[in-house]
Amino acid sequence: MLDDLKANNRRWAERKVAADAGFFKRLVGQQAPEYLWIGCSDSRVPANEIIDLDPGEVFVHRNIANLTPPQDANYLSVLQFAVDVLKVKHILVVGHYGCGGIAAAVDGQRRGLIDHWLHPIREVCHEHQHELDAIPEERTRLDRLCELNVIRQVRNVTSDIIVQDAWARGQNLCVHGWVYSLGTGLVTDLNVTVGGREELARLEDEDRP
Ligand code: ZN
Repeated sequence: MLDDLKANNRRWAERKVAADAGFFKRLVGQQAPEYLWIGCSDSRVPANEIIDLDPGEVFVHRNIANLTPPQDANYLSVLQFAVDVLKVKHILVVGHYGCGGIAAAVDGQRRGLIDHWLHPIREVCHEHQHELDAIPEERTRLDRLCELNVIRQVRNVTSDIIVQDAWARGQNLCVHGWVYSLGTGLVTDLNVTVGGREELARLEDEDRP
């Protein structure tokens, strides 16, 4: 069962050791990533590969449609550990164009539990209805919703008390919003970076419908 994957794993580990004999031994000691990646579970959006980082360099949280619900214990635990213990310097909220979660949130079909998970996207859609209705082409409209969703999730992260308290302590921490293109492999910075409480007001202006 899954022999190909096991063989892949052995070859990968051998390549790592061939390039750097102490690679795994160092990682056993500790992880000290500077980045927290919050991205979509989509198999085409692998965090480490997209930003070309090795194991140990990025702490990763992925869920459908890269959401940061303020009541989700899984996300909050990741955020707290990354900020309070690992002391990451950057949080990257990364959406992607062509996100199936974004499309499913607003296509009116019923799928069950996932409809509840995707509820925050319908709220974003509702709040920006005017802007979205003005975009005639569906693909373009959904891609804009991907961007608006990232901006909203950045706002969730920056307004969370874990991040607020880190800034109050003087901790160096920036939160960024990116969107990844499946078609080109490139990320676009949405320029909604927040590095402290005083910058939050600007982001709230951006997010205003
Ligand atoms: Zn997605």
